[in-house]
Amino acid sequence: MSRAETPQLHDGAPTRVGLFGGTFDPPHVGHLVTAINVHHALDLDLVILMVANVPWQKDGSRDITPAEDRLAMVSAAVAAVPGLVPGRQEIDLGGNSYTADTLRVVSQEFPGAELFTIVGDDAAAGLHTWERSAEVIERSRLVVVDRPGTPVGLDETVDWIRVEVPRLEVSSTDLRSRFSDGRPLDYLLTDAVLEVIDDRGLYLAREQSAS
Ligand code: ATP
Ligand code: MG
Repeated sequence: MSRAETPQLHDGAPTRVGLFGGTFDPPHVGHLVTAINVHHALDLDLVILMVANVPWQKDGSRDITPAEDRLAMVSAAVAAVPGLVPGRQEIDLGGNSYTADTLRVVSQEFPGAELFTIVGDDAAAGLHTWERSAEVIERSRLVVVDRPGTPVGLDETVDWIRVEVPRLEVSSTDLRSRFSDGRPLDYLLTDAVLEVIDDRGLYLAREQSAS
């Protein structure tokens, strides 16, 4: 649906809302460049960078930074970016974070809005493993962006919207290892995010345990 066809609810109410979920441990330029470019390409009113409370698919595989700290980093990352906002709805819901539930909450907040679930292709490839994936497909349009590396196969029965964004080979995993081995972080995450990391003493345990 083009912007012109989107029903206007009342003045200023967002009618095209993107949901970009992640662990954001930490948020980096790959996340920001993706959200900004999808916002532009699809003429969205808003992209919510939704901080997973318990990212159940990662649970147990490593120590995850507390959700409120990850939210503080995301808030700092998007503070100066028009159209991008941090999302704390999954933290407020508590427990494991399932996009199907999040979409329900977001659609109550923005009644009548068209919702877009934005994912990198690595996350898109695992769609069938998501809790109630059929509900996600029913409640939103699925948007996929490619990450660098080998292309992944996507479920062809889903009507994916593909958006081309600059492919940046940046990951939170690589950033966490940079914190521990002292390689440079410059330009991979924003100064505002680095400030939150310093203020809250995040990623220090990893630095210490590595030394
Ligand atoms: P980790 O290495 O810890 O898995 P990550 O960098 O993959 O972290 P996530 O929080 O897992 O970040 O990802 C949230 C969403 O952002 C996912 O849909 C993921 O595919 C997407 N994403 C992450 N990094 C990039 C990137 N460099 N370019 C495009 N999309 C990205
Ligand atoms: Mg990831």
